[in-house]
Amino acid sequence: MNPPSIVRTSTAELYDANVLKNYSRAALTLVRGRGAQVWDDAGQTYLDFTSGIAVSSLGHCHPYWVAAIQRQAGELIHVSNLFRHPNQGELARRIVQRAGPGRVFFCNSGGEADEALIKLSRLHGVAKSGAEGKCIKVICAKNAFHGRMFGGMSATPQEKIQKGFRPLVAGFAFAELNNLQSFADLIDADTTAILVETIQGEAGINPCTPEFLRGLRQLCDQHNLLLLLDEVQCGIGRTGKFYAFEHAGVLPDGIAMAKGLGGGFPIGAIWIRDRFADLFTPGSHGTTFGGTPLACAAGLAVLDVLERDNVLEAVRTRSGPWLAELGRFVQEFPAQVVAVRGKGFLVGIQLASDLAPYITALRENGLLVVGSGGNVIRVLPPLVATAEELAKSVEIFRTVLAAKAAAAGGK
Ligand SMILES: *Cc1c(COP(=O)(O)O)cnc(C)c1O
Repeated sequence: MNPPSIVRTSTAELYDANVLKNYSRAALTLVRGRGAQVWDDAGQTYLDFTSGIAVSSLGHCHPYWVAAIQRQAGELIHVSNLFRHPNQGELARRIVQRAGPGRVFFCNSGGEADEALIKLSRLHGVAKSGAEGKCIKVICAKNAFHGRMFGGMSATPQEKIQKGFRPLVAGFAFAELNNLQSFADLIDADTTAILVETIQGEAGINPCTPEFLRGLRQLCDQHNLLLLLDEVQCGIGRTGKFYAFEHAGVLPDGIAMAKGLGGGFPIGAIWIRDRFADLFTPGSHGTTFGGTPLACAAGLAVLDVLERDNVLEAVRTRSGPWLAELGRFVQEFPAQVVAVRGKGFLVGIQLASDLAPYITALRENGLLVVGSGGNVIRVLPPLVATAEELAKSVEIFRTVLAAKAAAAGGK
């Protein structure tokens, strides 16, 4: 469609000249995807085990999901939340069915979902103390990540995220993950909630132990605090259960979810347990774009496929042998691989040194993965990844680790 007078510039040049420099991007331009595979602009294929950072749960362009979006796009894309649409009602029902009796609010991202939970904590604080601005303390975990908006960023005690943006939102305190006493010690009369990721995604794949989660539940019951779980990354089947907290058998009071929910279409949501759901009243929160017919059609298509194809069961059965294979690298390459941990298709490979050269080498060998905190490589296959694709990833890892070991040995 470009008129001939326009000079075509390379995508890299377009980014260099026009896109904000808030990312140090890989030198890779992706143009097409299918399942677990993506193609770059030179026709090279890659196994995409980033899944857009735990987003593309059905892989790229799953035919059922594409058809659902196409159908809805020709029907009705957007209506205001001042009106109802069947898709939003149905997706809320399906989430309530999974989470438990409660209510759902739809937004567009994980950050917005976390903001909504933090706002809920303030409303609970008002209900508890009878006054505004008193009971506002939310206890979070050290090394947490709750997004880049002001509330979530204030709940994210990492210098690289907070630097330059102070003053932050008041009222957050930080305890040691998996140390119940450390959380208990911070509880006082002004505390309204505990907010943690069920599995920390950005800090190197650090799971809450089941005992710890159950302990948090007890603390919250004892002190009338909300137990808020950030499942933005670990939820929607990534660990082989729909929510990661299901492994521990706890019921939270609020859940933030987003990444995998739309399968690549932006959608976020919070679920609030029934006894706290009426803290939000008309006018107390809102969004223009949240929960549109199109976004909810994408979410419904994801849930349909997860159920129809027993995807969570496949994640559970396929991840076991795959994790065991990856775990062998600790013995095989002891100078390089410190630990392998995670659950289902949310896996971290902790290296002994800087991970950037490994991520580049893996890419050059056809495997895309993401970095995480603490020299941890995050491996996030789509939930529909086949046993062959998982085996292929192990093979590529082994090739790269062996080459690095040989290079180090040859020095
Ligand atoms: C990604 C992420 C967020 C932020 O989600 P965005 O969609 O990037 O705003 C929040 N919490 C956790 C645990 C995440 O992994």
